[in-house]
Amino acid sequence: MALSGGRLLGKVSVITASTDGIGFAIAKRFLKEGSKVVISSRKQQNVDSALEKLVKVADELNIPPTNLHGLVCHVGKSEDRVILVDETVKKFGGLNILVSNAAVSPAFGNIYDVDEKAFDKIMDTNVQASFLLCKEALPHLRKAGNGSILFVSSIGAYLPLPGVGAYCVSKTALLGLTKNLATEFARFGIRVNCLAPGIIKTKFSEPLTGNEAATELYMKVIPMQRFGDPDEMGGPAVFLCSDDASYVTGETLMATGGINSRL
Ligand code: NAP
Repeated sequence: MALSGGRLLGKVSVITASTDGIGFAIAKRFLKEGSKVVISSRKQQNVDSALEKLVKVADELNIPPTNLHGLVCHVGKSEDRVILVDETVKKFGGLNILVSNAAVSPAFGNIYDVDEKAFDKIMDTNVQASFLLCKEALPHLRKAGNGSILFVSSIGAYLPLPGVGAYCVSKTALLGLTKNLATEFARFGIRVNCLAPGIIKTKFSEPLTGNEAATELYMKVIPMQRFGDPDEMGGPAVFLCSDDASYVTGETLMATGGINSRL
């Protein structure tokens, strides 16, 4: 396994929803870039098995396993968000990078059929929890001096994806949150950016990527003619959170295999 460039050496990173899929891939890449990494998700058993996998990665690269920590955090629960930040600071002495990656999409169908409860859940988890987590992390990111926040949005922020309209609306809201927080947090030395993946092969996208008709349809709009791999999200995330992007804030980086995007 190749050792990456150490672009996050000495940093402490928290990544939500990072026991699987894109969040896990970002955690793995951050670890390889020298960051101390705190992974989290709702279920202890998922945290444990993801940590086990990451310790193996660390071992192969001679990275101390003590650079890793994991805990349960359901991003929709305020007490969990507090613990996530507090425990990170207690364990690693500070916080430099927050990656807000968690999202849900419990309703499938026309947007006008989505009921209030489902709409609230989508907005609470995907948008409000991201915002509240930033508030929790703010004092520590300020203290760090050059803190960085990354939201994980989606191509759905730009294009209405069939069946998941409310989810797409929540992902568009993250573009606005990125712009607004970037403007206000710049004076604290904190950059705020956003990553918008296209269709990436994970459990979340299985209903699309595992469906022949949907795959055929998507290949008509993906110039690269394939779905993305979660590991391909690690590089863009490192770029936005590292000093390589020291003059980049308020931006969204599309990683979609070339899907056309425009608001
Ligand atoms: P995934 O493979 O299904 O992974 C989901 C992860 O989120 C798991 O670790 C899960 O663990 C955790 N999780 C779920 N709900 C949570 C919550 N409320 N609080 C904390 N953790 C939670 O999903 P993914 O495809 O990697 O998606 C990650 C992000 O990428 C999402 O923001 C999604 O919108 C975005 N995205 C995905 C795609 C795609 O095609 N896959 C495209 C564009 C954007 P537990 O079950 O233990 O909680």
